[in-house]
Amino acid sequence: MSFVDEGTDRVLDILQKQGAVNTLFLTTFTHGRGLAGRQIPGQPFPDHGVQESDEKFFHGGNYAIPHPEFYGNTVLKQTRAPDHGDLDILAEVLPKARRRKLKVFCSCEDQWRSTVPGIERTVETDLYGRPAGTLCLFNPDVREFWKALVTDYCRSYEVDGVLFFNERNGPLLNALGASHAQAISSSRVTCFCAHHQKAARTWGMDFERAREGYRKLDQFVQQALAGQRPSDGYFVSFWRLLMEYPEIMLWDKLFDIGKHQVLAEVRDAVKSIRADLQVGFHIEHVNSFNPIFRATRSYDDLAAKADFLKVVVYNNCGGERYQRYINNVGSTVVRDMPKEELLRFNNRLLNYEQEAGLQELPTAGLSPDYVARETRRALAGVKGKCQILPGIDIDIPVGQGSRKASPEDTYAAVSAALQAGADGLILSRKYSEMRLANLAAAGRAVRTFQG
Ligand SMILES: [Zn+2]
Repeated sequence: MSFVDEGTDRVLDILQKQGAVNTLFLTTFTHGRGLAGRQIPGQPFPDHGVQESDEKFFHGGNYAIPHPEFYGNTVLKQTRAPDHGDLDILAEVLPKARRRKLKVFCSCEDQWRSTVPGIERTVETDLYGRPAGTLCLFNPDVREFWKALVTDYCRSYEVDGVLFFNERNGPLLNALGASHAQAISSSRVTCFCAHHQKAARTWGMDFERAREGYRKLDQFVQQALAGQRPSDGYFVSFWRLLMEYPEIMLWDKLFDIGKHQVLAEVRDAVKSIRADLQVGFHIEHVNSFNPIFRATRSYDDLAAKADFLKVVVYNNCGGERYQRYINNVGSTVVRDMPKEELLRFNNRLLNYEQEAGLQELPTAGLSPDYVARETRRALAGVKGKCQILPGIDIDIPVGQGSRKASPEDTYAAVSAALQAGADGLILSRKYSEMRLANLAAAGRAVRTFQG
């Protein structure tokens, strides 16, 4: 969006001179506002760009031109973003970036809207048979779409590779709200479609038992949220449900299998074009807060599929997000435990002892040391098999009373990641929400580190 609003060369100038940027992760596909569009509506505008909301025309989709020959095997053929008329963002930015010796990666995110032609044939089915807004990762049209998209980018344009974003969690964590999600919607978990039935047979899982288990889990969560304590307590009742329906765990595993198959297919599609094209994956924030989620994300495994991982270490917004995570899990499975105690327990498990208390988290944020710890953990996990590029929080929107990072905060976070041994950094999430003083502080930290 900023290239359109402010002019490509002007934005590239600022990114290079102030932010010390040498690589662009250009948002080429998403329907989400985290990566595309101007500032999120309702949030204050940064000190550059058009000071007016894009609510009236923001749509999302493919910001380059989809070349039809690549999309023959998927119903998702018409995904072009209508936001900027005939503009092809890659055709506009790529040559100008090349002249400046900037590398260019396509950022593609699994975020959709319900008006995309053909999408009704690809969406997930929830545990009560209703269509969801997310796409089923076992649906052949979806699998073919992601391969087609990255192939299109890498064949039609001289890019350096792809950064693929899929922030979605499996049904177990979604049912419990065991993330920084704003709401817990245990009755909406997915996916129970025909493609999942087939995948379940392949992996020896029982579809009917899984659905029954998730309906029981939905009841448990709804009763917990209403404060109706089971006679054995919340944790024991939850654990009993898992013992009686191990299919609950298996269905969560099945989600991860689908997600990791898509990652592997994206990687293979890109590498089959040219081995030196690079593929990276975004590793979502919940990987920082939730020990159960961490158990499902082995850096060793991920390193085998990627050239680099963008590990989210957003420390400023991390404070309020971590508080939300504790509040969510403290409302269901561990509702019997006071939330301050739950925080201390979780801190011990995750090596967070030095972080702020529960009430202070939003105003304190997470520390630069958190950035360093998570960077080191990722580096130790991948053992040199792929690069670790921590995603640094530059003005990611937060709630009204929450901390707004200062240039000193940003400088400290960037320095912490580099001193911890990061192979590089990704200033996140999008230029259209960054204040220039924070961008410049990141650039200063990089130049100081490089000496
Ligand atoms: Zn499905």
